[in-house]
Amino acid sequence: MGRKKKKAACNVFCWYCDREFADEETLVQHQKAKHFKCPSCSKRLYTAPGMKIHCMQVHKEEVNEVPNSLPGRESMDLEIYGMSGVPEGATPGNPGNQQSKKAKVESSKKLKQAEALLRLEKFIKRAKARNAPTDKLQFIENIAEVLRTQQN
Ligand SMILES: [Zn+2]
Ligand SMILES: [Zn+2]
Repeated sequence: MGRKKKKAACNVFCWYCDREFADEETLVQHQKAKHFKCPSCSKRLYTAPGMKIHCMQVHKEEVNEVPNSLPGRESMDLEIYGMSGVPEGATPGNPGNQQSKKAKVESSKKLKQAEALLRLEKFIKRAKARNAPTDKLQFIENIAEVLRTQQN
């Protein structure tokens, strides 16, 4: 009888913008719509690093900040999904310890490769525009090819 306490769900909040949610499912939907949506094609990804990789591979663009995030929380390196991956000690109003190893992205190797590949592709494009010698370019294209294979 009387009022039912709904205290349990109270600590569900979005690490990127501090908004609180009744449940994690709503939070995940919010994150996909507000923070992990591709700025170029509006595709909704599952994590910030996932969006970054999508933008590099599909649009050849580098995104370095999580859209709609609070100052200091725009890091694309954290693999946050709902309440998982949130830095240690984080509460609404407090971003917690971002240096926490646990919260660090697990797919960072893939991310680094995607970044390297994007830079190589840009370099090759520029070199071709300047009519650089093809034998030197071939070497770089080979590296890019290896990286591309590792991505998939
Ligand atoms: Zn948010
Ligand atoms: Zn896109």
